[in-house]
Amino acid sequence: MKEMCRTLGTIVLVLGIIGSIALAWNNGVTVTYNSYLGRTLEDRNLLLTIVWFVGGIITTGISATILHALGEILEVQESIAWKVSSMENKVSSVNRKDRETDEITYKGSWKCSKCGRVNAKYTGTCACGQDKE
Ligand SMILES: [Zn+2]
Repeated sequence: MKEMCRTLGTIVLVLGIIGSIALAWNNGVTVTYNSYLGRTLEDRNLLLTIVWFVGGIITTGISATILHALGEILEVQESIAWKVSSMENKVSSVNRKDRETDEITYKGSWKCSKCGRVNAKYTGTCACGQDKE
């Protein structure tokens, strides 16, 4: 996705430069009607040509920059997503450890002879008041 954005940005840049030249070439002329000759005359206006060219280049530059920035943002997002997933892995491994300790505690547990409740290893007296044997 980010690679696509960068490629697209480069394509836009190349096409934009070509487009700007074409645009300047087509629009950089002043058309005047010569009544004496009875036809329209096209004169290249250097200033107009430059203005159109610069305008095209600026537009191209902005578009290409946005696309490149988008690619950059996507890259950062990917690395964030990767970090989050590795963090989630760490959290789940911690949870697994908790479950393991729970099982260990369960192994040392004792069953109350009076009410049948299963108490933890460290519990000396059952909830019903019966002492650990
Ligand atoms: Zn009990």
